[in-house]
Amino acid sequence: MIIDSLPLSPSDWRGDWGLLYSFYYLYYLYYFNSFTPKKMRRIDLAVIHCSATRCDHAFTFEALDACHRARGFKMCGYHYYITRDGQLHIGRPEEMVGAHARRYNHRSIGICYEGGLDENGRPADTRTPAQKHALYALLRSLKTDYPDMVIVGHRDLPWVKKECPCFDAATEYADIEGVC
Ligand SMILES: [Zn+2]
Repeated sequence: MIIDSLPLSPSDWRGDWGLLYSFYYLYYLYYFNSFTPKKMRRIDLAVIHCSATRCDHAFTFEALDACHRARGFKMCGYHYYITRDGQLHIGRPEEMVGAHARRYNHRSIGICYEGGLDENGRPADTRTPAQKHALYALLRSLKTDYPDMVIVGHRDLPWVKKECPCFDAATEYADIEGVC
């Protein structure tokens, strides 16, 4: 009979405590799950970039951050930014996917140093000793957290037609090891 296949009327399911408790249970799962830490994404790549700004021009972290926000990013697209004075700036948390290397963002950490162009605007390795030191220390620390992480320059990725980061990062950091 057709009448038998009709769904329960509201008065019927209002009296169904089993259904009500299953909603409570779902809410309980949802509520307590919100206290557990977010699952960390898998990271097996560090991509080094330069800001592609002249070595005699300051490009502060604030300027970079504003530039990326103006391009529609939520915040700075890199995870770390190292200014010429060797200071390390946090662009975004590591668990957050970056916006720096198309097709590789989901699995990588993006690191950028201030500079990459000489006084005439030509691509050059303009890292100051302080920047080199900070970059090395950062990579060692990351390698401790992600031991199978491979370090490359932006230009080492397929389909990238840029000089970025204007030095051979893959070779320079091929043998880098974690802190312990
Ligand atoms: Zn780049």
